[in-house]
Amino acid sequence: MKKLLLFALLSFTIGFTNAQQSDSAVMKSLFNAALSNDTAYSNLEYLCTKIGGRLCGSPQAAAAVEWSKQLLKGMGLDTVYTQSVMVHHWVRGEKETASVTSKVHGSKDVNICALGESVGTPADGLTAEIVEVKSLDQLKKLGKKQLAGKIVFFNKAMDPTFVNTFEAYGDDAWQRVHGASEAAKYGAVAVVVRSLTLSNDYSTHTGIMRYDTTVAKIPAVAISTKDADMLSEWLKDDYELLFHMKTSCKMLPETESFNVIGEIKGSVYPKEIITVGGHIDSWELGQGAHDDGIGCVQSIEVLRLFKELKIVPKHTIRVVMFMDEESAQRGGKKYSRVVRATNEKHVAAIESDEGGFSPSGFSIDASTDTVAMISKWKALFLPYNVWNFEKGGSGVDIGPLHGLGFPLIALRTDPQRYFISHHGNTDTFDRVDKRELQLGSASIASLIYLIDAEGIK
Ligand SMILES: [Zn+2]
Repeated sequence: MKKLLLFALLSFTIGFTNAQQSDSAVMKSLFNAALSNDTAYSNLEYLCTKIGGRLCGSPQAAAAVEWSKQLLKGMGLDTVYTQSVMVHHWVRGEKETASVTSKVHGSKDVNICALGESVGTPADGLTAEIVEVKSLDQLKKLGKKQLAGKIVFFNKAMDPTFVNTFEAYGDDAWQRVHGASEAAKYGAVAVVVRSLTLSNDYSTHTGIMRYDTTVAKIPAVAISTKDADMLSEWLKDDYELLFHMKTSCKMLPETESFNVIGEIKGSVYPKEIITVGGHIDSWELGQGAHDDGIGCVQSIEVLRLFKELKIVPKHTIRVVMFMDEESAQRGGKKYSRVVRATNEKHVAAIESDEGGFSPSGFSIDASTDTVAMISKWKALFLPYNVWNFEKGGSGVDIGPLHGLGFPLIALRTDPQRYFISHHGNTDTFDRVDKRELQLGSASIASLIYLIDAEGIK
């Protein structure tokens, strides 16, 4: 009896080991295939350099929809289709200009860019004294008396002591998102916000801002960090200096756009879906390379890898190019609405939107048990320097799927360089490393392979 039990235990252990071995062999083949094929990198090059920055509602966004649809159609997938969404259509207009004029220091042009969805200045621009603040408390203390008719200069720098740079961004994004309406409450006529980057340079970094409808809509721009530092220095001995800015951005009527979707149908559970995606729209100062051309081409690459290695998934593997992450998240919301309305069953959803840097792991939005279950696979990823499996947030596009009982997962990457390019004129193809991109694709493909093979228990 004892012998029998020992035998049973042994066979179970051997079986488990074999499964692990075959999983690691498949993963090795996925990494090998990803690292020796340039398709994803070439796709990114085309998206960035031939189509370029892709503001939702723009002709470039429409071109990216068409391009990704044709690309997926050419891959021999089982299904390729689109989901219609109405999106904001904001245009930047002429290149923004700004200058500082001081009786003490002279005058100097500075680098600015309009914040996303800001109103423009009058046609001749706008000139006023400028007041520096670093907190909402400071703004409140200055009040109407000292702010009415002036420009407010939000100059809180991102905290360099955060190792996870996303935390520094999270702490300071309020200036960009809500600064204009907060300042308008006290009669300010415009805001200038320090670019949200850890770089000290002349690059400008845009991003969404939102108006509180109960106060006046005033123009909002970002200024480069070097120019912000200079302005701050000049203000120390000339608080009456004048800031001039000219922008011609404006909001046009909403326009129709699309999520683009492609699938390899599941061989056993075709109605159970594992979704992987990124967002196809981007800011347009740069080329939308790290944010989030990378996530798009990596997600497409997952399906290409499955095809190349002839891996027949049990569940349907679906790639989604989400539209409009940067503005109103209409694509992600639409996707979730369709899933909910049709009771479509998902096994997991995965998003890549943290830049094309070396993958470090996965952030998992799921129950503690599910996080523990997925984290069991960590050992299989360690040979690829992918080690960080933890409970946490996922992605903006898959976020609306929260609460449907399946895990939402984000690819984690090394965050040190992300805010060099984030939303800036620095987010360009030449700043993407091919191998880091490929390692990301292989990591996502491996996780999807494991989820498909073993399921989520
Ligand atoms: Zn993004």
